[in-house]
Amino acid sequence: MVVKQSICLLGATGSIGDSTLDIISQHPDKFSLFAVAANTNVKKMAEICRTFLPKVAVMGGVEARDELATLCSELPIQFDWGEEAMCSIASSSEVDQVMAAIMGFAGLKPTLSAIRAKKRILLANKESLVTAGRLFMDEVAKHQVTLMPIDSEHNAIFQCLPQDNFGFQKSHVSKLLLTASGGPFREWSLEDMKKVTPAEACNHPNWSMGQKISIDSASLMNKGLELIEACWLFDMIPEDIEVVVHPQSIVHSMVSYEDGSVIAQMGVPDMKVPIAYGMSWPERITTKVPQLNLMDVAKLDFSAPDLERFPNLKLAADAWHLGGTAMAHLNAANEIAVEAFLNKQIGFLDIATVNKQVLEQLPATAIVDLEGVFEGDKMARELAKRIILVGNNL
Ligand code: NDP
Ligand code: MG
Repeated sequence: MVVKQSICLLGATGSIGDSTLDIISQHPDKFSLFAVAANTNVKKMAEICRTFLPKVAVMGGVEARDELATLCSELPIQFDWGEEAMCSIASSSEVDQVMAAIMGFAGLKPTLSAIRAKKRILLANKESLVTAGRLFMDEVAKHQVTLMPIDSEHNAIFQCLPQDNFGFQKSHVSKLLLTASGGPFREWSLEDMKKVTPAEACNHPNWSMGQKISIDSASLMNKGLELIEACWLFDMIPEDIEVVVHPQSIVHSMVSYEDGSVIAQMGVPDMKVPIAYGMSWPERITTKVPQLNLMDVAKLDFSAPDLERFPNLKLAADAWHLGGTAMAHLNAANEIAVEAFLNKQIGFLDIATVNKQVLEQLPATAIVDLEGVFEGDKMARELAKRIILVGNNL
């Protein structure tokens, strides 16, 4: 990296936000923070503003913006609010790289805005790629954007693929091996999984993450979303990708080649590693993450996922094959179902049931423009809410 990189951090108050800020503060000679965005967490945003002094800070709503502006009135920062302002910081001429780490579908528009402004995209927000799919990738190609996968598995695959100056090529690849920790309920019976509480589901064995992705990891919906994410990123189909349960989360994913070679990327599970790689690629920088000690790990286990106890994984492959808006339907249903589970309206296993019913009941349509994605998202959310309200078969 010859020139210092100016960063726009979307989702600054979240778990990925924390790790990104850590990397920026470790390398003040390489990165500066131009702008930050979050939804409602004013207190944390005020701390970030005081520590990092970005030029612009954007909150989800006008009240949060006003509160933040009052808390930080002594700081020379421009305070703004709403999606338009997020799109504006993501496409600002003063920005080189955009960390897309807003949670869920809400991240789509700001990420697209960054793509259209030709920024390096550090993609953590998998939901935006899963929902907009082909449209998203077409914009990436059209604007010749460097799209760096931040999701640890996809970052690992990126590292295991042959690279040239423009990214990766999938020459001679036979399949991708996408690892999954299996989550906290990997060995639980279906009977026990019925009684899971939100606190138990948020307690991931290896990774410290936001609430929604922790629930998704426990239900394997996260792996389903990642399966679709990998299909789009690496131009594959679900049948080219094998999900491998690997409880230690040391092997972050692998690429299997025609000649029988399998290349794996390994390390201590810490998101600072893929984040730093995305920010510094094609170079590498230090992260202060401890080096992997294989003697301490001693043993690496691998097994096949149980699709009966974790049907979300199959639903994701089904949604891919249905095509069009089906992936947006599945993602929207899941966002609503996870929220309902967190609010104790439905049980843990009902998340997959809601997802399945939405996928079956809402016909997929071809995506011709962004409005189609938003329409599909909206209809799926409404249907999921109705299914939860009626409660039949849940
Ligand atoms: P968190 O829940 O910890 O943080 C989410 C962030 O998004 C917060 O800053 C939140 O703001 C912000 N946000 C939520 N809704 C909106 C909105 N409508 N407008 C603007 N900002 C919003 O999530 P994570 O950091 O764990 O995950 C972020 C993304 O990265 C997700 O898409 C996730 O799937 C992906 N990811 C995360 C990994 C991890 O290890 N955490 C690994 C791989 C991918 P506020 O705090 O104000 O609500
Ligand atoms: Mg992941």
